[in-house]
This record gives sequence, C-alpha cells and structure tokens, in this order.
Amino acid sequence: MKKVFQEAIFFVAEKGKKIGINREKLKASFFPLYRLFCRVEYKIFNQVYLYHVEIPVTQRCTLKCKDCSFMMPYFEHPKDYEVDKLLTYMDRLFECVDTIQIFRILGGEPFVYKELDKIISKALACNKVKTVDVVTNGTLVPSDKVLDTLRNSRLTVQISDYGDISYKKNELQKACMERGIKCVIRSMADKNWFSAGDLHFRGKVAADIKTQLKRCAGICRSFQNGKLYFCPRASFGTLLGIPNPPKDYVDFTCASDKNELRKQIYELNQRKGFLACNYCDEGTDEYRTIPPAEQIQDRNQVEKWRENIGKQ
Ligand code: SF4
Ligand code: SF4
Repeated sequence: MKKVFQEAIFFVAEKGKKIGINREKLKASFFPLYRLFCRVEYKIFNQVYLYHVEIPVTQRCTLKCKDCSFMMPYFEHPKDYEVDKLLTYMDRLFECVDTIQIFRILGGEPFVYKELDKIISKALACNKVKTVDVVTNGTLVPSDKVLDTLRNSRLTVQISDYGDISYKKNELQKACMERGIKCVIRSMADKNWFSAGDLHFRGKVAADIKTQLKRCAGICRSFQNGKLYFCPRASFGTLLGIPNPPKDYVDFTCASDKNELRKQIYELNQRKGFLACNYCDEGTDEYRTIPPAEQIQDRNQVEKWRENIGKQ
C-alpha cells in the first residue's frame, strides 16, 4: 500500500510538470493527500518521508534569467558552498530520513562547481535516496571525472532547454548518450515558468497565507547549505535579506539529536504558512506563466529589484 501511494505521488508530480498551468491545480488537489501520507508514515510507522529535496551547490550561474525561481541573478556576490560542509550536512540529513524519492542537485549551474562528483557520489551512496537528478541549463559540458560519476541507473541529467542560450545542450546530450548516462531535455514548451515576483513585503494576514500555501502546495524542499527549508523561495529569499526565523527551517549545521531533527522535518512538512509566503506570489492570482529564461540585459534592473527587498 505504501509503495502504491509513493508511486502515485511520483506519477502525479512528474506528470504535472508536463502540463503547464494545470500543474498548479493538480498540485493543490494532491497536496493534502501528500501531507496525510507523511503524517500516517510518521505517526503510525515512525517513518520520515520526503518526496523531493533540492541541494544547491553554488549560487553561481552562467545565465541571468530575470525570473529565476532561485533569484540567482540578484545575489551580489554569488558563492560556491564548501564541499566538506555539504557532505557533512548530507550525512546528517540522510541519517534522519527514511526515504527521499527525488534528490536534485543544482545551482545556479551545478557544472561550474569543481567538486560536483563528490556530491553526486554521496547522494548515490545513500540507499534511502531513490532517484538523483542533476539539473543543468545546457551551457556547459562537465569534465570526464564528473561525467563518469553521472553514469548510474538511479541518476538522470535534466537539461533545461532555453533555446539558443542553452548552446551546449546537444553536445552534452551526446556526451551522456555515449556514456550510457540517462539524460532528458526539458523543452521550453513545457510552460513551466512562473514568476513569484520580487521580495517586497505583501502585508498578508495569517488566514491569507494559509490559503496561499494550500494553493502553492509545495512538495519540493530546499536543503540550503545545511538548512532544510520548506521551499526554494524561502531558502534563497532569506539569503537575499527577508526574515529568517529559526522555526521556518530545520538546522543540520550543528549536531543535534536525531529524533528531534526527524520530528522537525515532519513538522516542517505539515506547516500552514511561513514568513517567506508574505514575500512571494506563488499560490496567489498574481502567479502566472511567463516566457522562460528571459535574460537580464541591464544592471539597473538588478539594482531596482534588490532595492525592493523587504519593502512594504
Ligand atoms: S539558468 Fe536561469 S533559472 Fe537556472 S539557475 Fe541560472 S539564472 Fe536561474
Ligand atoms: S514562500 Fe510560501 S507561498 Fe511561496 S513558494 Fe514558499 S511556501 Fe509557497
């Protein structure tokens, strides 16, 4: 029964990616069931289940997408995360969960990260992780050392195809095929680009946020440099300057009691709202499809966006 439910979550969530705006409705109707599943797993079987966890390894990117959902172009001094720390945090996370359906390694652009092979190997070495994705924008072909690590039946390279600017996508796909690496090109026709707006303060009350989170229905957690956030928006938004209350993430940067961390992961999954939701349009009528990967041409655009962080 448990396996059937897990497969159903996987099927619906993956299918949802391919059908554009309806994905949002689909996610929203499925979200309560997902939470119920996590509750039953934890309360009755003492199992901590996470459907999807993303680990950013760097804030650097080769592109400057205006509506990047990670807001990468708005980081003033983008940095790589220290590999030894990331590996330690991954160990702690893996120790505390029972299943992660999808563990997604990304950036910025993960292929700019020199130690990527170590992160990939660590993820693949954990048998609680069912599948591993590496997400790239198709502008780079990694070294042989990294390509060799990508060859694993549980791993898929996901190439986001942004048209001409993903100018190495074919070369990368060929390199993957030659080595028997699973590789998927996700085209712009997927219509899966949305804008959650800038980081100004929306002034919403708790009841609005509860409704918003139900519609947002996020099942993708962001493991940002040792801190597990409910969503990438909260994870990157807090780095860019919105408030970051400790109750809104699970902290793996210090060695804490395993059972306490497991409880906190479970509780994070069940939360009805976060401070970050007040700096986000996802789950509201403002959240609409937009053209994918529109590039920032003008430095002033970045300055203007940054000036709005936290403003009422
Ligand atoms: S390719 Fe674009 S969307 Fe992806 S991380 Fe870089 S800036 Fe963001
Ligand atoms: S900040 Fe809130 S509304 Fe926005 S994506 Fe995260 S959980 Fe959803």
